[in-house]
This record gives sequence, C-alpha cells and structure tokens, in this order.
Amino acid sequence: MEHKINAFNNVLELIGNTPLIKLSKITEYLTGNFYAKVEAFNPGHSTKDRIALYIIEEAERKGILKPGDTIIETTSGNTGFSLAMVSIVKGYDCILAVSSKSSKDKIDMLRSMGAKVYVCPANVSADDPRSYYQVAKRMHEEMKGSVYINQYFNDLNIEAHYKTTGPEIWKQTNGHITHLIACSGTGGTISGTSRFLKEMNPNIKVIGVDAYGSVLKKYHETKEFDPEEIYPYRIEGLGKNLIPTATDFDIIDKFIKVTDEESAHTAREISKTEGLFVGYTSGAVMQAIKQLADEGEFDENSNVIAIFPDHGSRYMSKVYSDEWMSEQGFFDSINVESTQQVEY
Ligand code: PMP
Repeated sequence: MEHKINAFNNVLELIGNTPLIKLSKITEYLTGNFYAKVEAFNPGHSTKDRIALYIIEEAERKGILKPGDTIIETTSGNTGFSLAMVSIVKGYDCILAVSSKSSKDKIDMLRSMGAKVYVCPANVSADDPRSYYQVAKRMHEEMKGSVYINQYFNDLNIEAHYKTTGPEIWKQTNGHITHLIACSGTGGTISGTSRFLKEMNPNIKVIGVDAYGSVLKKYHETKEFDPEEIYPYRIEGLGKNLIPTATDFDIIDKFIKVTDEESAHTAREISKTEGLFVGYTSGAVMQAIKQLADEGEFDENSNVIAIFPDHGSRYMSKVYSDEWMSEQGFFDSINVESTQQVEY
C-alpha cells in the first residue's frame, strides 16, 4: 500500500524557484536596497540547471530525444554538471568534450555524475578536428538521437531564463525592481531574464558584468569585435573571446567590467558577511554593484536584484584557497585598512 509521503519524485523537481535574499551587511554603506537571487539553491548548485532541464525537455517535446539517447556539450563547468544530472534522472547518456586544461577535480566530478568525458587537447585551434568543439560537433552529426546543447549559440538558453528566472524575480519583487545586475557569459541568464522583466516594465535598468580580457563590453558599445580586448583572465564563466548569439545585446543597457582580484575578494567578503557561500562570479556581480554605487547609479528608491550564479564549493582550490590567492598576487595590494575588512 502506498502511504501519502511528502516527497519530491526526483531531484529535477527542485530546479528553479530559487530564493531572493536581502543583502544587508555587505551593502551597509551603499544607498538603495539590494537582493540576491541565489542560484546555488538549485540542486546542481548553479543557474545552469535551468537551461539543462529546459533544453532537454524541449528536445523531448519535439520528439528528438527518447530514453537511451545522448546529450552532448563542450564544457567542464556548471553546464556540464547540470546536463549530467538531468541525463541521469531522465535516462540519457551524457557526453562532455572538455579541454585538457580542465582540472582533474572537475573531470572526476562529471564522471561521478555518470558523464562520459572526452579530454581533448587544449593547444589546438577551435577548427582543428581534435579540438573539443569539433569532437562534440562530429559526435553529434554521427549519432542519431543526440542533442548538441551548444549553449553559446542556442536561443533556448535565453528562453529558459525568459520562462523561469524572469517571472520568478517579477513575482518575488511584486514588480518593485529598478535594476537587474547579472554576469554575461553565454548571455542566456541576463538576456532571458531581462527580456521578461522589460516586457513587464521597460524602465528596469539592466547592467551586464564583464571581465577585463573579454570582448563583450566593447562590442556592446561599438558593435565591433575587437580582438585587442582579448587576454587571459582568471574569473571562470563570465566574459568571452567571441560574440555569443545567446546574448541579446539590445536588451542590455550597459556593461561594466570588474577585475579578477576585486571579484575574488568580494566573493570571500559575501561569504564572510552574509553567510552565503557563493562562487567567483557572484563576487564579480557584487563588485560591479560597489562600482556602480560609487558612480551614483542607485538612490534610496532603488531595488537592485543581483543574480548570484553558483556555489562556493566549486572554488575551494581557487578563490577560497589562501595559497591560490597568494599565487595570483591577490594579497599583495591589500592595505592595512582593507585587511581589517577582509581578515580571513
Ligand atoms: N557565472 C558562472 C559561474 C557561470 O558558469 C556562468 C555560465 N557561463 C555565468 C556566470 C554566466 O551565465 P550565462 O552563461 O547565462 O551568461
């Protein structure tokens, strides 16, 4: 006999409906009201659960996927983890082509979630047949019943956030939102969320966070791709060296750039002050808010929503490691005053 048990049917039912949490201590000296949409509350600990589930369910709806078929993507990051998680529950194979630059920890994590991981050489160009882009593309072409997620160039990435993240924020704020601040990587989060929010109220200001070393801000301002903007940087998941079609540049009012160093310290500060253990790009978003506050962007009527994309546990050997921070030289420029604030 089946008793009435109050349980979810599987982990996927917990995707989305993440909380909005008021930021109070880290914003103490800022004018305005600040809230974080904390995407680490997704079961895969990041915002990418939303697109993984949405894109796979759209493929099912269109009859492209049936149990035993294959999901393919080129990422060792959050998207890979989310795709592996959704694939397990729904009974698909998940193949992830990753670069040999990916850490062993990341590859082990994906394999633990049942993904088949193909490690491809990092030191070849994107159009080389050995590159992880080409390997994924080829496997998709050769495999019937496979879906290539292709998150940087897939409109469903935007649609996932248009259907979920945007409406959730509108409901949670009862429409009282003046600013949306979000990272832009593929651009899916910021584009889909703001497309919905601006349909509800076109006056909401949308500000994208970009990295030094990425082309997005310059492209937004000039509509030209400037390769001179590109150089290596540390923050993972934000900014890009190409122009993704999953970014709706027209809907974003402006971009702001943040440094690796300040973003890393700010991520640690969020954990220490708010008790929210968040990832590197959440630090980037908060750092952008501080810079925007200095520029006079907010007043006492501002209700600012920041999207915090993922959980701090993925950064134990980076932002949350003193050794890593020292190796990057991120402790060198701290003066006595700021040391008191960031005493780890
Ligand atoms: N932060 C992290 C940690 C990410 O993995 C990503 C995805 N690349 C982003 C931010 C940016 O989100 P989006 O790709 O939707 O622009």
